[in-house]
Amino acid sequence: EFESNYQYVLANIVRPFIHKPTKYAHKGTFGRALIIGGSHGMMGAAVLASRACMRIGAGLTTAYVPSCGYSIMQTANPEVMCMVGSSDEYLVTFPIVEKYQAIGVGIGLGTAKATQVAFANFVRENTNHLMVYDADALTLLSMDKRLLEHLGKGSILTPHPKELERLIGTWETDFEKLTLCCAFAQKYQVVLVVKGAHTAVVWPCGKIHFNSTGNWGMATAGAGDVLTGILTGLLAQGYTSEQASLLGVYLHGLAGDCAVKLMYKVNLIASDLIDNLTNAYVSLL
Ligand code: AMP
Ligand code: MG
Repeated sequence: EFESNYQYVLANIVRPFIHKPTKYAHKGTFGRALIIGGSHGMMGAAVLASRACMRIGAGLTTAYVPSCGYSIMQTANPEVMCMVGSSDEYLVTFPIVEKYQAIGVGIGLGTAKATQVAFANFVRENTNHLMVYDADALTLLSMDKRLLEHLGKGSILTPHPKELERLIGTWETDFEKLTLCCAFAQKYQVVLVVKGAHTAVVWPCGKIHFNSTGNWGMATAGAGDVLTGILTGLLAQGYTSEQASLLGVYLHGLAGDCAVKLMYKVNLIASDLIDNLTNAYVSLL
């Protein structure tokens, strides 16, 4: 049963997903994306995610950050619009999200008590929105598992191994881990992107895909934040959660592979992934 339920992701699987816009396309065609996160000392996460979101093709990207992050975001990412929450160092308020097709939340967010309370309300109030939950958003979901019932159908969760363990508990074997992931994705009707050397993408139907791109040079701070931006940007463009998760993970790894053609793997930093997204895209087309 398990055997027939997994697939290795190569270019021929994700290439057909890529949208082919017409010459009459405008900003609205490519969707509005919102990135929520950042805190004092962790603004880079929000900068990287917002930038990756623009680079992967979102029409409009807005970042919602605490006020300490305003100049940082506007200076680092002139293409990104910036809204600020009501406090300086970390978010204690969350924005109204009606006009956004996709929302990426959690990178650099922190886990302060006030953030936790505001985040819980945010999750409960936005059950009909397509979200990408990463980093501290995953930690906060793990701290109050009742929130999982409120996740919007088709939302994407992108845990690294530690975040996954907080979410689903411990496992003995890889098989057990995948079984737990499948049960989780099916129960909450979300996509689980289990990050690692061969990232596993688990769809709400229970089907598992293993990614083929990427390299150990990507084991570096901020690599995950770039993935969050990519996934949010793809959802904003109207890709389904299933398509966005496979295509996004594939392109993210491919950007890493393009980057290390020009440098040794140990030298790779997360910004290089964003700078190589264009090369990845072109080599996939
Ligand atoms: P994070 O831990 O949130 O920064 O995410 C790290 C990102 O880098 C994930 O997308 C991982 O899949 C990727 N990554 C980390 N280590 C490796 C590796 N050894 N090979 C390929 N990709 C990796
Ligand atoms: Mg991360």
